[in-house]
Amino acid sequence: DLADVPLHVDGLTKRYANDHLAVDDLSFRVERGQVLGLLGPNGAGKTTALRVLLGLVRPDAGGIRVFGHPVVPGAPVLSRLGALVEGPGGLPHLSGRANLELYWRATGRPLAEARIDEAVRIADLGTALEHPVRTYSQGMRQRLAIAQAMLGLPDLLVLDEPTNGLDPPQIREMRDVLVGYAATGRTVVISSHLLAEVEQTCTHVVVMDRGRRVAAGPVGAIVGEDTAILVGTPDP
Ligand code: ATP
Repeated sequence: DLADVPLHVDGLTKRYANDHLAVDDLSFRVERGQVLGLLGPNGAGKTTALRVLLGLVRPDAGGIRVFGHPVVPGAPVLSRLGALVEGPGGLPHLSGRANLELYWRATGRPLAEARIDEAVRIADLGTALEHPVRTYSQGMRQRLAIAQAMLGLPDLLVLDEPTNGLDPPQIREMRDVLVGYAATGRTVVISSHLLAEVEQTCTHVVVMDRGRRVAAGPVGAIVGEDTAILVGTPDP
């Protein structure tokens, strides 16, 4: 029953106006409790696939279901979905905490202080949380953005390149955050062009190259020398 499947991608195809086939007949599914890494070199089509998933881009063929619901472009983002797509934003003159509270109010849901506290723990910003976001490093902004995506405790959390701007210790912390999040029965999908990052943070992987799925499975079973060579391929 697809109603129990957090993410079901079926024959997804997206061609841009310049006739470039960005995603080519992509299919995979993600089960509850998994941290899935969409892995591939720059231009593989990861961002395009995530943009279709979020209803920002209309596919040419195939489709995506989130807990059985077809994703419809332009429709309100499903309440069960939380996402970080663009690079971390935030209103620069407001504190990290004020940004989280503002975001939460914009969702129209009643403010749960415990929710903010949990997100604050995830963001691990310490007293900087009370300082203006313009004083933050890129890594701090990134963690604030991820905390924001997690604020509503979405059943499916989608993060495009979440470890951008993080240093190796922060990437290890990110693993704990993502795996801990999925351990509560929720599901995480991230994109990455770094094999080591997916190895460290994900339970499962879908490897993409030139729009196509070239491998998929549990991280341990898939990540081998061939994948390393593939992902190491520079852009043409
Ligand atoms: P990156 O990590 O660089 O974002 P990616 O795997 O996310 O790579 P996409 O951003 O989905 O890949 O891009 C897939 C292909 O589609 C690339 O060749 C890219 O140049 C092309 N592309 C992306 N957006 C557009 C667009 N709006 N119009 C035309 N071509 C596009």
